[in-house]
Amino acid sequence: MSTYRIAGATGVWEVVVGLEVHAQITTQSKLFSGAATAFGAEPNSQVSLVDAAMPGMLPVPNRECIRQAVRTGLAINAQINKWSRFDRKNYFYADLPQGYQISQLYHPLVGEGSLEVVLDEKDPEGSAKTIGIERIHVEQDAGKLMHSEDPSVHESYVDLNRAGTPLIEIVSEPDIDNSDEAVAYLTELKKILEYIDVSDCNMEQGSLRVDANVSVRPVGSDKLGTRVEIKNLNSFKSVKAAIEYEISRQSELIESGGKV
Ligand code: ADP
Ligand code: MG
Repeated sequence: MSTYRIAGATGVWEVVVGLEVHAQITTQSKLFSGAATAFGAEPNSQVSLVDAAMPGMLPVPNRECIRQAVRTGLAINAQINKWSRFDRKNYFYADLPQGYQISQLYHPLVGEGSLEVVLDEKDPEGSAKTIGIERIHVEQDAGKLMHSEDPSVHESYVDLNRAGTPLIEIVSEPDIDNSDEAVAYLTELKKILEYIDVSDCNMEQGSLRVDANVSVRPVGSDKLGTRVEIKNLNSFKSVKAAIEYEISRQSELIESGGKV
């Protein structure tokens, strides 16, 4: 599977990367409520009773979000599952009033697909690679915490405007061999999401965020190494830097007798 090799002190390592991409779906309203999703509004001005998780509120799926996720699946030649399910992913955090995120853990809307990536723009014929996509699922975003910048003031504020905003999460297979391939994959994926109008992919506004899963293993090993996940990267530059940093950190760690 992997072809990228790093010469270490004790042997040769290959790199395995899988990416999770969260893209905010372009819609007027949230995934399970009618509240607006526009960026930059006054804090807590776009929060319905559903988003604030008032007891007894009934989340009703936004048809447009499902449609957009299906379109994304079609754009990457993926299997569209006629039956899918939302689950509760429980965790406690101040930006999540429900105490759980509604996501699709076990039965995603979109199954396996793939993306053809051009690795060398100057040589589009010689260097294409197909990267597998495991699934695409639909889920809610959390709210945002704002912490006081004055170190003597121990106060944080909660803005729930983003709570319940629709996301698709696109999960790649661990088919990516190095940081350049990761950037090529993200560039291609972003182009598609923009072209089919599923997301504006505005990385400064957080509309596209990447979790990079990185591991190394001895060349020829048929087992994957232990992965490290670097979450919420909001530029391709930081994805590249994070992968490169992890490659040297992990290979040096293992060579010095440590464990990832
Ligand atoms: P989780 O939510 O636990 O992170 P996901 O299934 O959403 O799980 O995503 C896991 C990601 O990690 C996928 O992109 C997958 O390809 C990748 N991955 C799995 N195992 C490895 C590994 N050993 N090294 C690198 N990437 C991996
Ligand atoms: Mg993950």
